[in-house]
Amino acid sequence: VVALAQRVMEEIQRPFEIDGREVHCGASIGIAVDEARALSAGVLLRNADAAKYLAKERGKARFVVFEESMHAAAYERMELKSDMPGALTSGQFAVHYQPIVDLETGELDGVEALLRWTHPTRGFVGPDVFIPVAEHSGFITTLGAWVLDQACADLRRWRDADPDGRTFHMSVNLSVRQLEQPSLAADVAAALARHGLSAEDLVLEITESVLMTDAAAAHTRLEEIRALGVRTALDDFGTGYSSLRYIDKLPVDVVKIDRSFVARLGEDPTVVQAVVDLAGKLRLTLVAEGIEELEQWDILKGMGCDHGQGYYFARPMPAADLQALAAARRRPAPAA
Ligand code: C2E
Ligand code: CA
Ligand code: CA
Repeated sequence: VVALAQRVMEEIQRPFEIDGREVHCGASIGIAVDEARALSAGVLLRNADAAKYLAKERGKARFVVFEESMHAAAYERMELKSDMPGALTSGQFAVHYQPIVDLETGELDGVEALLRWTHPTRGFVGPDVFIPVAEHSGFITTLGAWVLDQACADLRRWRDADPDGRTFHMSVNLSVRQLEQPSLAADVAAALARHGLSAEDLVLEITESVLMTDAAAAHTRLEEIRALGVRTALDDFGTGYSSLRYIDKLPVDVVKIDRSFVARLGEDPTVVQAVVDLAGKLRLTLVAEGIEELEQWDILKGMGCDHGQGYYFARPMPAADLQALAAARRRPAPAA
């Protein structure tokens, strides 16, 4: 069955042509085997589905054979999936905010909205765990719309509470599933209008891999968003497939360098320097993610990287704390 899966994958991966354009396609395959011939068709299919889920998670275009240990993980995902709608209505989700600073001055330039879930029995569940589940089930569109609304409402509140304060923008993460929705740009415009915000107040972040795998539709949606005047950011840059060559063809205004590059800055600054140079030429705004040390800040500043984000400046925090921070110092305090 593994040999068969391999052959199927090879066939599917063979490029083909549509309207004279070369198209590449991939498949994720989950395999379940019932050697003892004891399982029902339903169980067998569920096992194959759990294996397919892992195949996708491990980076697409691969196959995974089901193992018993995948049961627990699949069961947990199933529970999280069914808990999510109730969790939203009962207030278990909250949006936290992490400062994005101007690396030259250290001043607050924006904040990124990051979703948090406090589950009644599991306690804190990280977005790395539940966001993929919500994407799988489709609930992410409801959740994503809620995050956008909360983020806009909070920004409005902060402005009203400190009308003379420096303005800063709001960054919100978008899932690939939201980009699939034809109404996305209209929904974004409606959220801004609802809270009396303008398009320049908002940046929408999309991970690099989304733009690569689902290119055509995603590009259209992003162009619609940018036509509103809302900026777009390429998140986790360097972890996907896009090359530096390609970056100027993407419909984005901001590039966020993945924190893995910032972590290796001391040993290997060449990639970051190349991205900084290119971003300057293309007039893209650059944000370095995951700055945890003063030294990293110094190196990035020296390279000419304009913005940064990371635990060194501040961790994600509840809306009230962010408001206090913005009002008191108008810039995040460096960690002790
Ligand atoms: P992301 O968009 O890359 O967000 C940045 C993540 O890096 C956050 O993790 C943040 O807490 C963490 N981080 C920030 N500074 C540092 C640092 O100095 N060191 C380290 N080690 N980590 C740092 P978080 O909040 O756990 O979120 C994880 C991912 O979940 C996000 O990655 C994003 O892809 C996704 N996510 C979170 N909220 C949402 C949401 O509302 N919608 C969607 N679609 N995805 C979301
Ligand atoms: Ca992000
Ligand atoms: Ca990121």
